Amino acid sequence: MPSYTAPIRDIQFVLHELLRVSEQETPGYADLDADFTAAILEEAGKLSSAVLAPLNLSGDREGCHLENGVVRTPKGFKAAFDQIRDGGWTAIDVAEEFGGQGLPYLMHTAANEPMVSANMALNMYQGLTHGAYTAINIHGTVDQKARWLPKLGSCEWTGTMNLTEPHCGTDLGLMRTKAVPQEDGTYRISGQKIFISAGEHDMAENIVHLVLAKIPGGPEGIKGVSLFVVPKVLVNEDGTLGARNGVACGALEEKMGIHGNATCVMNYDEAEGYLLGEAHKGMRAMFTMMNEARLGVGLQGWAQSEAAYQNALAYAKDRLQGRAVTGAKNPSGPADPLIVHPDIRRSLMDQKSFNEAARAFTYWGAMLIDRSHRTGDAQAEAMISLLTPIIKGFLTDKGFEMCVQAQQVFGGHGYIEEWGMSQFVRDARIAMIYEGANGVQALDLVGRKLAAQGGKPMMTLIEEIKVFCKENAKDAEFARDFVDPLKAASKDMQQAAMFFMQSGMKNPEAALSGSTDFMHLMGHVCLGWTWAKMARAAQAGLDAGTGDRAFYETKIATGRYYMARQLPATKMHLARIESGAAPVMALDADAF
Ligand SMILES: Cc1cc2nc3c(=O)[nH]c(=O)nc-3n(C[C@H](O)[C@H](O)[C@H](O)COP(=O)(O)OP(=O)(O)OC[C@H]3O[C@@H](n4cnc5c(N)ncnc54)[C@H](O)[C@@H]3O)c2cc1C
Repeated sequence: MPSYTAPIRDIQFVLHELLRVSEQETPGYADLDADFTAAILEEAGKLSSAVLAPLNLSGDREGCHLENGVVRTPKGFKAAFDQIRDGGWTAIDVAEEFGGQGLPYLMHTAANEPMVSANMALNMYQGLTHGAYTAINIHGTVDQKARWLPKLGSCEWTGTMNLTEPHCGTDLGLMRTKAVPQEDGTYRISGQKIFISAGEHDMAENIVHLVLAKIPGGPEGIKGVSLFVVPKVLVNEDGTLGARNGVACGALEEKMGIHGNATCVMNYDEAEGYLLGEAHKGMRAMFTMMNEARLGVGLQGWAQSEAAYQNALAYAKDRLQGRAVTGAKNPSGPADPLIVHPDIRRSLMDQKSFNEAARAFTYWGAMLIDRSHRTGDAQAEAMISLLTPIIKGFLTDKGFEMCVQAQQVFGGHGYIEEWGMSQFVRDARIAMIYEGANGVQALDLVGRKLAAQGGKPMMTLIEEIKVFCKENAKDAEFARDFVDPLKAASKDMQQAAMFFMQSGMKNPEAALSGSTDFMHLMGHVCLGWTWAKMARAAQAGLDAGTGDRAFYETKIATGRYYMARQLPATKMHLARIESGAAPVMALDADAF
């Protein structure tokens, strides 16, 4: 059975030596000293290793079952979820007035990482609840907040997001679910939603559905979509639970992975619902929490890769096959361990160098979200909006690829379910699809984010990289290993952005033919920059001479690997982008 250990030293390195969180001026950050965060991470790590990880494989095998309208989650899930809830893990960044700890979103992200790595399917029940909490917190009235937030914050009730319908996922303007206004100010919601994660289950006494629907007579298309709160069980004035509402799970989807999470067909039959935010502004309401939701999915991608990597590494040290080309490394044994072989090393380095940079980059994203929410910093908001498609799209594409690499280390055993590697691959796959499929993330990046505010956020990013390169060019070795490759990659990114500005206007198909390549090109630059910054922080650790030499040297060597072996991918992506639309669109649809 696969195992998992929270990489606390790595997380602490990111929080304190890279991001230097307790020195930040964002409210709440001064409290995040190293002892405090270590205490939280150690407890999250223990819960993840001892309780959540052991249920991952069994939850995958057993899956969820629908019995007479009730969804039964896998054995042990409910008790484990109770532990998550009782430990206050769902309420880390919930406002104190609603019973939470009021800590920054960054701390929620850091504590969440081990739980996602250990058991993504189980963790999704709280992840979606967090999304519903945020939406109501931002858009709800005082009464709505008082009614829903304390129970959602504690996860006593869980939440869902209902966007998708059978005929529309990306193009939500086609939505048919209706919300008919009633004289008492409520709405009657009717329609069918599909693929609803945690739509029904046995782990909470109420489920609060956030549902997108159209009010009849409103604007056509996406502009006519509104957002509603629709509880599974109606709540009385005094807060007690009342009658069952007109919403039920009609079926469970049979799917490739995350079997422990119930993916439901939800039927709304004149269910009572309450408008959240303004009428016809439902998409805008959804968008305000998009950065957070997408960061959470981006984290799923690499958190699965981290868990897969840990197991691949252990296997590579244990499994004896062949001899090292340079002579036996385990002469008393019948063969050497897999890890002596350069191609296995390459694979492990790919995984390790991706996971560590992905973590640091995501945490930086979480810090920008805090800065934007807690101080109203418009520049931080613009930057995280630009980076969100990278966090969601690039990190989940790569996270999946790295899970496949980890599986490959196991050879045929990786394909056999009992080792658990197949599950990492299957579970990671969904992160590329939901919360906006990755092709649509790339479209968002090239079509909207690049040109947002006249390209200012993009120019700020380029400028920040330039300043970093300038400030760190003096150290010849660092310049050779980190600054020069970063400069070259950043130049590729600028050249690609220029291509979109010049030819994209004339021929939009040229821009969109290169959108996924641009997301990957920019993703590599972002992780390359992250590695350069981490290498600097590790060097500072070495210079301080406070011990942990091996840790810092490993960091720098891993960063060198990324710069030498991963970052050159920008050249390939640039070449593809500059080839324009012609090779992509050459065939008529009938010619395929
Ligand atoms: C396990 C699981 C859990 C889910 N959980 C939820 C949930 O909790 N709530 C919820 O509302 N939904 C949920 N979904 C739905 C998910 O968000 C959608 O499946 C996803 O957004 C894509 O929509 P679609 O499946 O309709 O694909 P489509 O919109 O039909 O897209 C198909 C493909 O075409 C691409 N595409 C579409 N339009 C364009 C375009 N203009 N340009 C280029 N490419 C395009 C997409 O990238 C995609 O690859 C879940 C899905 C699954 C499988």
